[in-house]
Amino acid sequence: METAGIAVRNNLEHILYVIEQNAADADEIGQTSPESLQVLRESGLLGTFIPFSYGGLGKNVLEATRLIERLGSVDPSIAIIAFQHMSVISRILEWGTEEQKNKYLPLLASGEWLAASAWSEKGAGANKQNLGTIAQPLGNDKWKVSGEKTFTTGAGLADLYLVLVQTGENEADFLYGNSGQSFFLIETNTLGVSANSRLNLSGMRGSSTGFIEMNNCIVSPDALLGSVGQAPSIISHIRESGMSLGAVSVGISDRVLTLAKAHLIKRNLANNQIFHFKMSELSTLLEASRSLVERAASGNDELSGSLSYQSKVFASEVSEKICRDCQQIMGGGGYMRGQAIERLTRDARAVALMGPVNDLAKEITGREMMI
Ligand SMILES: Cc1cc2nc3c(=O)[nH]c(=O)nc-3n(C[C@H](O)[C@H](O)[C@H](O)COP(=O)(O)OP(=O)(O)OC[C@H]3O[C@@H](n4cnc5c(N)ncnc54)[C@H](O)[C@@H]3O)c2cc1C
Repeated sequence: METAGIAVRNNLEHILYVIEQNAADADEIGQTSPESLQVLRESGLLGTFIPFSYGGLGKNVLEATRLIERLGSVDPSIAIIAFQHMSVISRILEWGTEEQKNKYLPLLASGEWLAASAWSEKGAGANKQNLGTIAQPLGNDKWKVSGEKTFTTGAGLADLYLVLVQTGENEADFLYGNSGQSFFLIETNTLGVSANSRLNLSGMRGSSTGFIEMNNCIVSPDALLGSVGQAPSIISHIRESGMSLGAVSVGISDRVLTLAKAHLIKRNLANNQIFHFKMSELSTLLEASRSLVERAASGNDELSGSLSYQSKVFASEVSEKICRDCQQIMGGGGYMRGQAIERLTRDARAVALMGPVNDLAKEITGREMMI
């Protein structure tokens, strides 16, 4: 058992090394590194919390969260691709039929298939209201799906998209999602699906975040995840899984503090008391954010649901502060293109803008406190 544990650790260290080596180039050209993605897909780690019975590693969400943190410390773009993949896995585990689990989970566990979430649209951003992507029932039991999604991480890389669509009338507004909405699992090879990752992002430039277009795609009823109109309750249960994008931010914070420490030692500034105070303050914030993210992911806490959003908000705000303060510590060199700190600072900003955006996450958790 111990030997197997060491093998997994060595494998992870090798994967992280390869991903780190490619991160700067991926950022520069604005494309996901094929080599980084390949080592991750072949590692089996993308199936971390898929049960053994479906071909996964049978671990829990906390283990997956720690993996996302490690990925975030070497390349946050790869970390968010992995995070979105795991989010779709969670939804299939929670709401999928046995047929859907048997069909998709082994492929997603082995990394043969990659999954992505296509919810956001140009006219339906933060709170996913007013969707333009429509699924119409056809007389022959099938559905016709049409519309365009934007900001899909892993666009063009994924083999399976979890797509949020309008299937009925907007009758009641929810804070996140709307009534009359449903989820479909749409395979990339479905006729009418096209993708491009041409969004010229400021950070997370190696995440292939882009557009998915569905042009009169015909899908069968077994592509529905959950039942018709069930999307709002699926969305509201997501945080119960404890998965928090905050893990990506914790990884960024950890890496940036390491870079700042190395700089201080190299420049003979490590004995300066002002930097002792600063490094102590920042590492306390890092540990607080890690604790919150891991507490949410442990799932054995009655607060887990709210903690998942709160930890995401806190960890992303902390990582932005750590990036800013460490850029100051690292001086002009830290402000130069090609320096890891500069790239990670741009990447850190994105987490606050990702689903749910921080303001919406605060709105949801704050409102619940008043009940
Ligand atoms: C790097 C990156 C990767 C992403 N990956 C994905 C992905 O894989 N799949 C996907 O579906 N989407 C993804 N998104 C989109 C993301 O989830 C958000 O939906 C999107 O960034 C916000 O939409 P918008 O830009 O249209 O903002 P808008 O909807 O225009 O909102 C602008 C701002 O208004 C405020 N705001 C708006 N509505 C509310 C509200 N109800 N309560 C409180 N404040 C509010 C917030 O501050 C918000 O930032 C990604 C975004 C980024 C930056």
